[in-house]
Amino acid sequence: MTLQITKHFTLAEMSHSATGERMGLNNTPPADLMPNILKVCERLEQIRGHFGLPVRVLSCYRSPEVNSAVGGSPTSAHRFGLAADIVIEGVANIDLARWCAEHIADYDQVIYEFGATGWVHIGFTATTTPRKQLLSAAKESGRTVYHGGIERA
Ligand SMILES: [Zn+2]
Repeated sequence: MTLQITKHFTLAEMSHSATGERMGLNNTPPADLMPNILKVCERLEQIRGHFGLPVRVLSCYRSPEVNSAVGGSPTSAHRFGLAADIVIEGVANIDLARWCAEHIADYDQVIYEFGATGWVHIGFTATTTPRKQLLSAAKESGRTVYHGGIERA
């Protein structure tokens, strides 16, 4: 049975991890994080509604095991089910990132990650005031570096 969180997003999709699956790691979110995941799904519905196209979720929730396997920060919003890495087929990532920054009222971070072939990270907060931070991530000499603003890689 697939648990539908909102009209277009399922628990399976929000807790899917290609790395976790490959390594056989558990990535089932604990019940107390479900309100966070619901919040993300509601914002993704807003994005889907605007573009009229499916939003593909590459990663939302990450268990501690999955998060360390992908090299995520221990304080990553993904750990708490408060972020999604998304793409929309037919929409340039930079346009998606800019739209999110302009129209999703309570985002904490929008990160344009690794240019046109990467994805858009959108993160939220549960209790603290959103920082409304805009960043671009790029690989420089094999390291991930972040620049302020959403800029073409
Ligand atoms: Zn992310």
